[in-house]
Amino acid sequence: MIYFYRLIQPFKALTFDLDDTLYDNRPVIKRAEKKLIHFLNQSHPKLLKFTHKNYQFYRKKILLKYPKIYFNINDWRRQSILLSIKSFGVQSQLAIIISRQAMSLVNFWRNQINISTDTHYILKSLSAKLPLIAITNGDMNMKECNINQYFFEIFRSGVNGPPKPYVNMYDLAAKKLNLLPNEILHVGDSLNTDVLGAINYGMQACWLNIYNKSLLSSKDARVLPHFEISNLIYLKNFV
Ligand SMILES: [Mg+2]
Repeated sequence: MIYFYRLIQPFKALTFDLDDTLYDNRPVIKRAEKKLIHFLNQSHPKLLKFTHKNYQFYRKKILLKYPKIYFNINDWRRQSILLSIKSFGVQSQLAIIISRQAMSLVNFWRNQINISTDTHYILKSLSAKLPLIAITNGDMNMKECNINQYFFEIFRSGVNGPPKPYVNMYDLAAKKLNLLPNEILHVGDSLNTDVLGAINYGMQACWLNIYNKSLLSSKDARVLPHFEISNLIYLKNFV
């Protein structure tokens, strides 16, 4: 299904969101955090009763202390884990060691992502015709997930600038491609990061709506995308 909202101009490149656009990220994070809690429970007697609720509490605490920490999701996770361990009474040096091990474990599970053959197919066929750049607010590793071959470049929030909808990473992408903003189509699942940022920067925006949400009644909607698709496969109609 495709719905059109604005006049589409020909585009010469695509930028892509990663999480929840190329794969369902929610079960990935859920499993990674489950592994984290289990690891912490085993790693020290004082952490035996540490729960996911405790982890959420310390994540919020870190965010209150450093409001911009969400720019870098990986750093936020690292600091939350360390604070969690220390707050449960583990001595400082040991807390650092345990938190490093915990981070390697979470980073491993965070990248155990099943990219569907359909997604591989569409990325392969699009990248054969146009340059693709990834713009993410997350921390997935494209190489570990075996999709880096389709992308010309990746920009990450916290590393390359503030997160979407801030326009900085869109601007980096346009400069890297040496194109005007409206010569680029951004594709993403989020109305208030992907679509809003792309439209504010002057790019064309495609909203991937796999959950059949209503654009007009969605609380996340800020601006209209150029068009909406229910599956990435519809992008084939445009290139
Ligand atoms: Mg997303």
